Amino acid sequence: MTTPILPGATLGVLGSGQLGRMFAIAARQMGYRVHTFSPDRDSPTGQVADAETVAEYDDLDAVRRFAQSVDVVTFEFENVSAEATSAAAEYAPVRPDGSVLHTTQNRLREKRFLADAGFPVTPFAPVRSLADLDAALGTLGYPAVLKTAGFGYDGKGQTKIQRRDEAAAAFHSLGGAEAVLEAFVPFACEVSVVAARGALDGTFAHWGAVQNAHERHILDVTVAPAASVPPETAREAVEITRGVLETLNVVGVLCVEFFVTESGKLLINELAPRPHNSGHFTIDACVTSQFEQQVRAVCGLPLGSTAFLRPAAAMANLLGDLWANGEPDWATALAFADVKLHLYGKAEARPGRKMGHLTALADTAEEAAEKVRATRKVLKKETDDRIHRP
Ligand code: AMP
Repeated sequence: MTTPILPGATLGVLGSGQLGRMFAIAARQMGYRVHTFSPDRDSPTGQVADAETVAEYDDLDAVRRFAQSVDVVTFEFENVSAEATSAAAEYAPVRPDGSVLHTTQNRLREKRFLADAGFPVTPFAPVRSLADLDAALGTLGYPAVLKTAGFGYDGKGQTKIQRRDEAAAAFHSLGGAEAVLEAFVPFACEVSVVAARGALDGTFAHWGAVQNAHERHILDVTVAPAASVPPETAREAVEITRGVLETLNVVGVLCVEFFVTESGKLLINELAPRPHNSGHFTIDACVTSQFEQQVRAVCGLPLGSTAFLRPAAAMANLLGDLWANGEPDWATALAFADVKLHLYGKAEARPGRKMGHLTALADTAEEAAEKVRATRKVLKKETDDRIHRP
């Protein structure tokens, strides 16, 4: 039996972005210490952690020293090598373990795992050469999406191919990296399920299916519960997610992102073996957030209730673009009732960079979505505004 890791212990996090920051805040609230490891200084996680190691992920001696100083290692960044997770595992339990990371950090391995286990995935084919791509386009048809197998997130490293004469340019744009070709799915909507599995007895907890809208391949707004899918589709998404966590033997939090086709079929787009952007609303909207659940799961404690405090919630990302005309108008936005602001402590607001998010609570999903969008709108300073200001 797993001995629980109790408050007062030190939790190690590989990675130091906003996911680690929100994990660290949840952990510290429960009396844990947090030690983050990443190549960055003054990071979103480092700012709120008890200790910050600044080293490269492939500095295995630094990883070993880090693992010696903590009681458990988890992560918020999944592109950590198998060598690094094995080095950490010499000294502390790594949860979820390195094999989960290995499967999910490469699109091809992930899709093969899912397809072999009988989970529904977007039709795909491996691409290592232009000849492979030609053959794959022949099978999957147009349009199709070419994605790098490794190190892709938020639409980075992917191109849509509409016609045969676009294939060569798309292939060369990936710089010869191993890739996957996917059939383009003309989806009706996108949903995700964030769920957790405990270390003790494999208990499973989830926050239901939520609906996601993307802009430029980056998550824009999440609405919970998913408003446009029938209850049976939402239930099926949860059951598929349960199956994925069990088959991968996950201890921790994992998110499954789905496309919902016009005919109501669910296809898995991708997995994230950690808390996910589409679960940020749980901090304000639920008894237990996805981050507290990660703490509980990796510490071998009972999972918390995922009940909603209000019937519905919506989350809107705040990207760096919002800073284009100066600091957003926080004071006006904070006058909106039932809306909460989260900022990640990032100094530089680059376009497309996730700087923070807003969560709105309401009685219906539609009302929550409207409220969060309206609040975000007032944040953006328009240039015209400044010109006309008396
Ligand atoms: P990804 O980085 O694979 O999660 O892709 C980001 C977003 O791009 C997805 O959430 C979709 O909105 C869109 N996308 C990616 N792959 C496909 C596909 N095969 N068919 C249709 N849309 C896609």
